Amino acid sequence: MNQASMRGLIFVISGPSGSGKTTLLKTVLLDRLLKNKLAKSISVTTRSKRSGERQGRDYFFVSPGGFLRLVKSKKILEWTRYLGYYYGTKKDFLEEKLKAGKHLALCLDLNGAKALKKLYPKNTVTIFIDAPSINELRKRIRGRCSKTKQEEINERIKLAEIELKNSCAYDYVLKNKNLAQASIKLRDIILKEIRG
Ligand code: 5GP
Repeated sequence: MNQASMRGLIFVISGPSGSGKTTLLKTVLLDRLLKNKLAKSISVTTRSKRSGERQGRDYFFVSPGGFLRLVKSKKILEWTRYLGYYYGTKKDFLEEKLKAGKHLALCLDLNGAKALKKLYPKNTVTIFIDAPSINELRKRIRGRCSKTKQEEINERIKLAEIELKNSCAYDYVLKNKNLAQASIKLRDIILKEIRG
């Protein structure tokens, strides 16, 4: 699909584990001013479903073999490997929504943000969600992963530090000190970009 036929914008939201990006996005998707304009892209992943997650709503959960078949048949626009699992953006899902004039929000890692900016430079806005401080981030990751192996906690902290170093590559950086205030800021960035 060429960029001229794309009417919608792509909002890529990134941030380290514990930055609160998923919660922020959920809040913004329910906002009165954005409810009918902004949709969330649903990625494909090989990781297992967490409690409360639903197939086709949070992710399309597939086997590693199924994921590789999607990549081989060029149905995946961009993909990454995170903590041993594959994650990818479905090409048809994204392009159908954009053609219909919907704006899309995607929660992706740095690789995904870079890939989409390169594929659709005129339509992509990248937003980095930052935690108030690295110590706070470490605390949130440890708190969230209380049942997780120390190894995985260390890996998440290491990845978070790498992501923080790359935050300057984004169009916007938003500190999430307070959920209510940060969601208003995120909503305002999206509205400003939509209204041009
Ligand atoms: P989680 O397992 O916590 O849902 O996601 C792990 C990481 O994968 C997060 O940083 C999330 O933003 C990223 N991610 C989720 N889906 C995709 C995708 O389709 N592409 C890329 N590049 N990253 C993704």
